[in-house]
Amino acid sequence: MYGLMSERPLLISSLLEHAARYHGNTEIISSDSDSNITRSNYKKVNTRAKKIAQALLKLGAQKSDTIATMAWSNVRHYELYFGVSGIGSICHTINPRLFPEQLIFIINDAKDKFLFIDIDFIPLIESLISKISIIKKIIVLCDKDQMPKSSIIKNLICYEELLDKENGKFEWPTFDERTASSLCYTSGTTGNPKGVLYGHRSTVIHAFAAAAPDAMNLSAKDVIMPIAPMFHANAWAIPYVTTMVGAKLVLPGRNLDGKSVQGLIESECVTFTAAVPTIWLMLFEYLEQSGKKLETLKSCVVGGSACPRFMMEKFYEKYGVEVLHCWGMTETSPIGTINRPLPKHKGQNFAERLDIAVKQGRPVYGVEIKIADENGITLPNNGKDFGNLWIRGPWICSGYLNIENSETHGEDDWFLTGDVATIDPDGFMQITDRTKDVIKSGGEWISSIEIENFAVGHSSVMEAGVIGVFHPKWDERPLLILVKNENSEVTKEEILEFLKDKIASWWMPDDVVFVDSLPHTATGKIQKLVLREQFKDYKLEVG
Ligand code: ADP
Repeated sequence: MYGLMSERPLLISSLLEHAARYHGNTEIISSDSDSNITRSNYKKVNTRAKKIAQALLKLGAQKSDTIATMAWSNVRHYELYFGVSGIGSICHTINPRLFPEQLIFIINDAKDKFLFIDIDFIPLIESLISKISIIKKIIVLCDKDQMPKSSIIKNLICYEELLDKENGKFEWPTFDERTASSLCYTSGTTGNPKGVLYGHRSTVIHAFAAAAPDAMNLSAKDVIMPIAPMFHANAWAIPYVTTMVGAKLVLPGRNLDGKSVQGLIESECVTFTAAVPTIWLMLFEYLEQSGKKLETLKSCVVGGSACPRFMMEKFYEKYGVEVLHCWGMTETSPIGTINRPLPKHKGQNFAERLDIAVKQGRPVYGVEIKIADENGITLPNNGKDFGNLWIRGPWICSGYLNIENSETHGEDDWFLTGDVATIDPDGFMQITDRTKDVIKSGGEWISSIEIENFAVGHSSVMEAGVIGVFHPKWDERPLLILVKNENSEVTKEEILEFLKDKIASWWMPDDVVFVDSLPHTATGKIQKLVLREQFKDYKLEVG
């Protein structure tokens, strides 16, 4: 209709163009594998991303071509996010921690035309190259004098040499905002990984939603460090959000141990960060050993796995850091829900606040969620009934790449998450389990997550995993598997006593076993599938 607002498309390149113009000198820094710091800024990155665009076009890249990266969280990887998507190609961020067969599958499934790779991953790609037919050129993210020699891969190209040939005088092209921009694969705990295709429109509106005050509350005054890697759900999309608001961006590279993370927070004055609970456990261990603090850090997102209560308490009471509990998936860009108090919670004491904060939070604008039973009948939001969690919204996937009629995509854009949850009358959602991890005891469900979260609150416990094991009467009963803190001693009886007033008596684990370590996924989550396999012959003592 005449006079309606302009239809200027929402393009990823416009995020960087804006940051370069209005926050040009704001820094983007990264730490390499030897903890050396590289410093750049939005202005420089915009020019270099344009050089990538020019080079890619010369190499023959076209709109909708898939161009892969295999790299840590670093400045060059960040440049590629924009250089590749900016010309309408699709930036496929490969998770190098996937199994070799999965890597071969996803590279072929995505039809990756070019691959940009950190030096660290050359041996990995050498071992796969004979099974990857599609990749035309491999570009190594390094300076000329660092170029590796490979007897297996011919004609490796040096990234800096490639960029040096270009002048960066380039206008970002304008195209339909519904164009695909980037591609991530789920980690595929069962079966092959599945490709999730993001678009320019979905990425930009997700960034608006994520930056908002009742979401991550980010502004140009922040210093933001995403710890979730850039090859996992695009570092939870935080690089895009940071660029939109023009904040300083700190990319932590390969080393995510407590010392490195604390070092970067302190030296770069980080105010906001985001990671899975495993990272925070390592950080706490280092802080306790070293006596160091997190003086500049104001808030941090905990997601990917449930955030235990003790973690929120420690962050706030010992280090003055506010925890934002978030839930999301690769399929949800990733923000689904985020936990922020409501006006009615004003005046609550910290313990009362925690009762709500341990939930995964409420949907941000744009997202709708519901829970339903096995027959798809919607269940009430009473905080008690739990069922399969469904989600829909403009940044939630509508299908998987190359998979027709995916079973997890229902009518009216609803996506079945594979999580089981409750939703309370205020809309706070709480994850009970992943559908496949739920423990069914005598027909009732027991939340493994809740037991784990209480167990890690014990001062001698480092990590906890709960699985269901066979029971002749109840079908399944919970088995608690624990890793102790270094130099800590604790018995099964002490653990059960500790849990006694925290969980319902019929949720009490039937047994507790201690192990040296738990198996983890590529993204640091406990691998329940492997754990169940390890304990498949476990026999409970049935009295
Ligand atoms: P994958 O683990 O398969 O790589 P994602 O990284 O996309 O996939 O993880 C999504 C899953 O992680 C969710 O479906 C949910 O089970 C779990 N998850 C994410 N955030 C939370 C949270 N805050 N609490 C509990 N579980 C979470």
